[in-house]
Amino acid sequence: MFKPMDLQKDSLKNTDITDVEKVRCLIIGSGPAGYTAAIYASRANLKPVMYTGMQMGGQLTTTTEVDNYPGYPDGVTGPKMMEDFQKQAERFGADVRFGVASAVDFSGRKHKVTIDDNKIIEADAVIIATGATAKYLGLESESKYAGMGVSACATCDGFFYKGKDVAVVGGGDTAAEEATYLAGICRKVYLIVRRDVLRASRTMQDRVLNTKNIEVLWQHQTVELFGENGVEGVTLVKKKGGPDEETVKVKIDGFFLAIGHTPNSEAFSKYLDTDPVGYIKTIPGTSKTNVAGVFAAGDVQDSHYRQAVTAAGSGCIAAIDAERYLSELK
Ligand SMILES: Cc1cc2nc3c(=O)[nH]c(=O)nc-3n(C[C@H](O)[C@H](O)[C@H](O)COP(=O)(O)OP(=O)(O)OC[C@H]3O[C@@H](n4cnc5c(N)ncnc54)[C@H](O)[C@@H]3O)c2cc1C
Repeated sequence: MFKPMDLQKDSLKNTDITDVEKVRCLIIGSGPAGYTAAIYASRANLKPVMYTGMQMGGQLTTTTEVDNYPGYPDGVTGPKMMEDFQKQAERFGADVRFGVASAVDFSGRKHKVTIDDNKIIEADAVIIATGATAKYLGLESESKYAGMGVSACATCDGFFYKGKDVAVVGGGDTAAEEATYLAGICRKVYLIVRRDVLRASRTMQDRVLNTKNIEVLWQHQTVELFGENGVEGVTLVKKKGGPDEETVKVKIDGFFLAIGHTPNSEAFSKYLDTDPVGYIKTIPGTSKTNVAGVFAAGDVQDSHYRQAVTAAGSGCIAAIDAERYLSELK
């Protein structure tokens, strides 16, 4: 999982960095959005340079099954799919390099991006496709059962639990949406809520409370997951710290986290407008940010859909926006 680095926003003032390279189009991030931008940008002769970040291939490299990406009728593993994306980008000449954007200076017409604190790329156009990271509770068993019953994406993995019993953790709109989505596929959905109220909007609350196969477990907190060859149940504590605290075990086949995501936008937030969570704001219907020549694509600017296909689509939009911007610069 990519961990946002400790960013030194003023490190570009560091005159020690003498390695400066000029490029037309820089792509930051190598998930579906970044590679799709690279395919379109190289075919438009923008000679894109891509820095992959720590997680080459992005989030999908952590999953075994991708069943909903068009063009793979028998499904595909995440790592294989991202290998295919990379090959396709490189076929048209995209220059894919390992490295992390550690600081930026978007104050001038040339956009400066520091890579690994030792090189500066000066780009006419920059496409940011650094994704978002799902939040986990931090339990040992979450990592133990990763891909074996633990998921942070109901749309991605819900189908694998058709007719089974699952739990969703969270009390906000995302949790309510995920629980309602899973209720249409699964036999039973437990919604584990820490407090005695939901933070979700009134409409979403009504939807949850009026869905017969959703049971809200109020004032419950997750202790650990258990199971032999995957998740078979969850241990919860009810009314933790109260006089009537109680430990409860619930049998489930799948455990879905819905406690939020962290967009990987910290490196850019000094210059780019973001929403309160940190998602980069783009002009609706485009990939344009508030800085001319800087574009954003994929999960880093999408708090809502967060799918490979939507990320790829927005990568295409970003490359087309970048091409038009560059052609007007001439
Ligand atoms: C376990 C799991 C299973 C999933 N299953 C599915 C599925 O079946 N179907 C589906 O459609 N979606 C699925 N998703 C969601 C899907 O993976 C994402 O929506 C998609 O990957 C987003 O693409 P992206 O290109 O925006 O970002 P990401 O895939 O998150 O890629 C971000 C990239 O940016 C790089 N990066 C980050 N910071 C920097 C930096 N400072 N400098 C340089 N590079 C940086 C990272 O290394 C990474 O390469 C799943 C997600 C997870 C976690």
